[in-house]
Amino acid sequence: MNMATMVNRKCVFAFQEGHAKMVDLLGGKGANLAEMTRAGLSVPPGFTVTTEACLAYFKDGNQLNDDVMHQILMGLAQLERGKGQFFGERDKPLLVSVRSGSVTSMPGMMDTILNVGLNDETVVGISELTGNPRFAFDCYRRLIQMFGHVVMGVDSQLFEHQLERMKKREGVLRDEQISADGLKQLVQEYKLLVQLKTGRIFPQDVVDQLRLAIEAVFSSWNNARAQVYRRLHRIPDDQGTAVNVQSMVFGNMGDTCGTGVVFTRNPSTGENALFGEFLLNAQGEDVVAGIRTPMPIAALEQVMPDVYHELQRTVKQLELHYQDIQDIEFTIEHNKLYLLQTRSGKRNAQAALKIAVDLVREGIITKRQAIERIDPMHLEQLLHRAISEEAQQQSLAKGLPASPGAAVGQVAFHAETAVAWSKEGKRVILVRPETTPEDIEGVLASEGVVTLRGGMTSHAAVVARGMGKPCVCGCETIQFLEAEHCIQIGNQVIQEGDWVTIDGHRGLICLGEFELKEPEMTQELSELLAWADEVRTLRVLANADHPHDAQVARQFGAEGIGLCRTEHMFFDKERLPVVQRMILAEHADARQDALAQLLPMQQSDFEGMFEAMEGLPVTIRLLDPPLHEFLPKRKELQDRLQELRGQVGMAREIADVEAAMKKVEALEEVNPMLGQRGCRLGIVYPEVYDMQIEAIFKAAASCLERGIIVRPEIMIPLVGHVTELKFFRDRIEQIASQILSKMQLQLCAYKVGTMIEVPRAALTARQIAVHADFFSFGTNDLTQMTLGYSRDDAEGKFLSQYLDHRILPHNPFQVLDEDGVGQLIQLANTAGKSVKPQLKAGVCGEHGGDPQSIQFCHAIGLEYVSCSPYRIPLARIAAAQAVIAQERSVEEVSTQVKGKAV
Ligand code: ADP
Ligand code: MG
Ligand code: MG
Repeated sequence: MNMATMVNRKCVFAFQEGHAKMVDLLGGKGANLAEMTRAGLSVPPGFTVTTEACLAYFKDGNQLNDDVMHQILMGLAQLERGKGQFFGERDKPLLVSVRSGSVTSMPGMMDTILNVGLNDETVVGISELTGNPRFAFDCYRRLIQMFGHVVMGVDSQLFEHQLERMKKREGVLRDEQISADGLKQLVQEYKLLVQLKTGRIFPQDVVDQLRLAIEAVFSSWNNARAQVYRRLHRIPDDQGTAVNVQSMVFGNMGDTCGTGVVFTRNPSTGENALFGEFLLNAQGEDVVAGIRTPMPIAALEQVMPDVYHELQRTVKQLELHYQDIQDIEFTIEHNKLYLLQTRSGKRNAQAALKIAVDLVREGIITKRQAIERIDPMHLEQLLHRAISEEAQQQSLAKGLPASPGAAVGQVAFHAETAVAWSKEGKRVILVRPETTPEDIEGVLASEGVVTLRGGMTSHAAVVARGMGKPCVCGCETIQFLEAEHCIQIGNQVIQEGDWVTIDGHRGLICLGEFELKEPEMTQELSELLAWADEVRTLRVLANADHPHDAQVARQFGAEGIGLCRTEHMFFDKERLPVVQRMILAEHADARQDALAQLLPMQQSDFEGMFEAMEGLPVTIRLLDPPLHEFLPKRKELQDRLQELRGQVGMAREIADVEAAMKKVEALEEVNPMLGQRGCRLGIVYPEVYDMQIEAIFKAAASCLERGIIVRPEIMIPLVGHVTELKFFRDRIEQIASQILSKMQLQLCAYKVGTMIEVPRAALTARQIAVHADFFSFGTNDLTQMTLGYSRDDAEGKFLSQYLDHRILPHNPFQVLDEDGVGQLIQLANTAGKSVKPQLKAGVCGEHGGDPQSIQFCHAIGLEYVSCSPYRIPLARIAAAQAVIAQERSVEEVSTQVKGKAV
């Protein structure tokens, strides 16, 4: 956008000019302030500077251009006229807040400055006007502190230190007890501090204050914590933030004033009751910053019953209007209620689910809306862990239960320590006096978070809930002993590195490493999943290698096994020696011997799987990894040899180890990922695959004899040429007809299919489909081979830089690369079905459990996805969401087409 187009572009909107749908332009906060203003609620008037102005600001080298500034001043003039107060005028000064407000809510990630418009003159005016010098100077010192930090870059700790010193000097404990003279004095000290640290004076020109504040808020879009947050939540960098300039209301004018945050329902449990906190005689920042520990909202009913009831009515009205739980900021000025913000409330998984289901039951939203409301990733958390009864009894400290789930880890006192330790593979619990948004990386690296101060709506709590990290806040019984570098609870001292277990659901902290209980399905979850099942068309299968996993998968609603990796059965402690004997065998006889021993073991595994799935399809993949994975490492053998050579009478053992060593060397590969694995193994050692096939059919026969219906689907890995598949298909048919009776053959109706995980297989899908009953896209390998990345090397070496530099939008092993790998899948699916319409196709890589990838699978017409058992609920929801999203886009296209036709 060049200057010319900018000139005529409206970039300042008074609150009464906007509405909720203008989020992209006005940001979430601005759009909702406008919507509330329209609804006639009591919102202090103001205006919003658009996200477009923010982008123009960046384009112009971080400067507000003249036109934007002109529009801002016009907006200000309108505000002045409406309020009858004037910016910078001593007798009737207008004060405003300058508030960030991005399109997607990023709580606490960007900056806000309150009380803009105060200077040495207007502060006196306010003081006289209100007859309350204490209040006037409290506002002023807050302005200098926020402005000094946000705009001028002075460390806010320095202001805090001076504040603490002043409290000591006056012999008081809390901020609101400092005297008017004390605050006046503090203002002088703050101004001096600013000058000392920056070489500039705190601006007395109020228009300068406003311009600099707006510029600083725009710039805060690019501060480090905002960037981290955006990456984490996949928020685009080029959205920009809007800025809201709003006339001030004051919660810090005395005991008939206050400020607070309220949720229309409980964001941790979903319970339908007001939830929140407030502080008397305080300004907004005090609650969210977690500096003072606030009172629960219910207590407001005692202190100001009328205000409380009005609040109750108003917030319920907002909830109904937005059809969703709201997170609302309010301020009370002399018993009058003002609303300062509403947004849909961040909630944890459990609450999200209960609220969505309750809203359907209350007739506020439809089942489909409820499904759309669920963040599929949240379902992972839903299956939360908890601490045992025993651990609960032994807890050392109790704080606020800020984000549920339990976690075990070693205590770290700093975000940097948490990051460093987690890189070393340690599990960390971050313990902080209070967390600031700057700690976000530490929170991310930790298993859980504990803070000593701050409430349920403090930033620490909000951020932790968003990430699904267990969090306990406001543990005021814990003391931080800075000098000794430890914390103390009662007479128990905890050093950095000590183990603790926390329960964010109950707000408990226990010393030591306790075992955690695994989660279960809830009533609400089953209900919502049943709704999702009505909508979705993709089938959801499980990747499960053991009968136990298969059972878990069924409980979560799996409609069969999409991938059973037989090699996982080989790694079992008792079996491994037999597997090794099989591999090390010099002659076919010896190999047959070992295989004969393995056969009954495999057979019983398969019987277990068939029993657990009772008639649902069980897709069994024949042996896939290179054989050397089953053998000891070369280094181990060398060490063993050395040990043996030091002893006498070990000739036989030495010979054995030497033989093993030879074999290990022989099997060694330069690039095992592209080496002798998958069906290549089966061609070199057909007897191994034969044994597996035999075991499958023997298991099937045995189940059928016991009246259990079976649907085995045998899957050949790593096929690149149709001839490979053909080779095994013939053998499978031959062995099946040897083992199963005619009757059984009919009953079991097994299938033979192939993994599509080599690009050549995808490209020749037309040929391959002739001999395949199904295609299972092994997207892990297909991603490796299409991108030419070996996963271990990529993730260990360059991938994180690729993500940092945005060379790649996501880790392609987590989120399917739609343009590349996805295109191959689409091509193979279409080609395969063109020769065999009844061909079934699905994805069995990790992507089968990723919501975005699931949406893609649905869109290109696959039949199923297969994922790990714990991801099944997530996949069921994501599959239903894919249907709803597709319907919506069809609707949108048709309205667009209609629009064009008109
Ligand atoms: P954040 O996104 O960090 O919550 P906000 O812009 O919402 O930042 O503001 C921070 C705090 O200041 C909130 O508690 C808010 O209610 C309060 N606040 C903002 N503007 C005003 C105002 N005009 N009058 C009174 N309090 C305000
Ligand atoms: Mg806010
Ligand atoms: Mg593979």
